[in-house]
Amino acid sequence: MNDQPLILHVDNVYKAYPDQGRMRMILNDVDLKVRQGEFVTLLGPSGCGKSTLLRLILGSELPTKGHIEIAGKPVTGPDRDRGIVYQKYSLFPHMTVLENVVFGLEAEEFGLVSRYVRRAKLAQHRRHNKEKAQEMLDRMSLGSDLNKYPHQLSGGMRQRVAIAQAMIMEPKILLMDEPFGALDDNTRTDMQLFILEQWERTKMTVFFVTHDLVEALFLGSRLIVLSQFYKTAKEDNEGSKIVTDRAIPGGHPKPTSFKNSAELAAMLEDVRRRGLDPDFAQHIHEFDLSHADAYQTVSAAEWGSDQDHDSQKDQRTT
Ligand code: ADP
Ligand code: MG
Repeated sequence: MNDQPLILHVDNVYKAYPDQGRMRMILNDVDLKVRQGEFVTLLGPSGCGKSTLLRLILGSELPTKGHIEIAGKPVTGPDRDRGIVYQKYSLFPHMTVLENVVFGLEAEEFGLVSRYVRRAKLAQHRRHNKEKAQEMLDRMSLGSDLNKYPHQLSGGMRQRVAIAQAMIMEPKILLMDEPFGALDDNTRTDMQLFILEQWERTKMTVFFVTHDLVEALFLGSRLIVLSQFYKTAKEDNEGSKIVTDRAIPGGHPKPTSFKNSAELAAMLEDVRRRGLDPDFAQHIHEFDLSHADAYQTVSAAEWGSDQDHDSQKDQRTT
């Protein structure tokens, strides 16, 4: 049982967007708890709302209903306690590698501290920030690229800088939206090992979105699948739900041999069917929510088979 503090709590979250004159539900009652040090991978078919969920956690958009907390504090907008890395365009093109990584720290100094701190002190802060950034970039094998601009870097290097840029702020949770999706296979494998190294070194909390099944199972300690392919008794199944929330066996981080293991092969088919196959719509009672922190910890059998998810939730909260 994981008794680490709760970092992320997504509670009864719905999100609808206007679509052709009406509201279309994208996220339908999403519940999620993540504890410190977890490496969660979120998998789901294209268009199921993965990026939408990340935007809600980031605070750049608010839920239609429900609420989200980071370390017990309600999310009302973006904050430095959440870092994000996108597939592309996380970097400022007109800034060098070093400037990109220092930027967040500097912005903070100027925004808050400068009004209260003497000039000499400010210069000291700046030196300190630069050293901190250099140290981090060294550790990420980018020490000799400090003065390069993003367009002079390979895709993999750019993503390493983007990760450094997010990590230097020491966020409570690092959000990643298909960060390796645009890389070629070899670079992608290198980057997977890279992010695992960073996780091992810092034991940070990571919430990693991907639509690549093998990547999700290889990187994560826990797999969450968000999908619009499911059935309910009421036919009100518009919007995606969490259909799988389970621990990924094989320890963490896993050896690269896991990618060719029988263990992985056995999970692949099950997860693909449950999450990604539009022709296989499981009933909400069949969701695999076996993780200790998954919302529905009471088995469907205990509730009777014709009750729907909502009434189960109602009963649990009364
Ligand atoms: P994913 O990241 O899983 O591929 P997204 O979260 O990007 O999915 O999108 C989920 C759905 O929400 C898509 O159908 C998309 O068209 C829709 N959507 C996303 N953002 C908006 C928006 N701002 N306005 C209207 N519809 C949106
Ligand atoms: Mg997306």
